[in-house]
Amino acid sequence: MTDIAPLRDFVTKTTHLVERHRADEAALLAAVRPILAGLVATGGWLPEEFTRPHPLYYLQYLLHADPIERWSVVSFVWGPGQTTPIHDHRVWGLIGVLQGAEISTTFERGAEGGLIQSGEQRLEQGDVAVVSPTSGDIHRVANAFADQVSISIHVYGGNIGAIRRAVYDDNTGVEKPFVSGYSNRLLPNLWDRSAEVRATI
Ligand code: FE
Repeated sequence: MTDIAPLRDFVTKTTHLVERHRADEAALLAAVRPILAGLVATGGWLPEEFTRPHPLYYLQYLLHADPIERWSVVSFVWGPGQTTPIHDHRVWGLIGVLQGAEISTTFERGAEGGLIQSGEQRLEQGDVAVVSPTSGDIHRVANAFADQVSISIHVYGGNIGAIRRAVYDDNTGVEKPFVSGYSNRLLPNLWDRSAEVRATI
């Protein structure tokens, strides 16, 4: 049995921060980043249903969406060797590695219109990285391991699965419309606090 309390606390704190810093993306990212780092520093809180890989492709399990779609948090599960297409986000995002490791490769538009690789970052368990349309938003993420599952927790400035964004052709850089969706139909129950309330009776 997992104790989901750390995820509930993360959702509560992030909701307050999104409200407080809604006019200042840099302040919001600076405030949410350490909270996400705290969440991914330890395991044991993510229910098993949201950790299962697929043999062929990476999965995106929605863990919580803000009711007015200001933000969302998603569990990405990468099977051995799995990778995303090159894609963008159109909203801010934070990536925290819960298990394993990932490689994020960033791209920029070149003068000829194609994409040029602009950086590569290996994220280890516990690391947090930022994506934002204001600081570079096009990347590819891959499981760093060919023989084990990696899991990362992503936080975005919108209902990310329903945002119109783009994937990019590796060779030509040509942009194609992309709406990522989610892999799960049901969400984790964050709100059963009955045991702690009963304990006070
Ligand atoms: Fe991404």
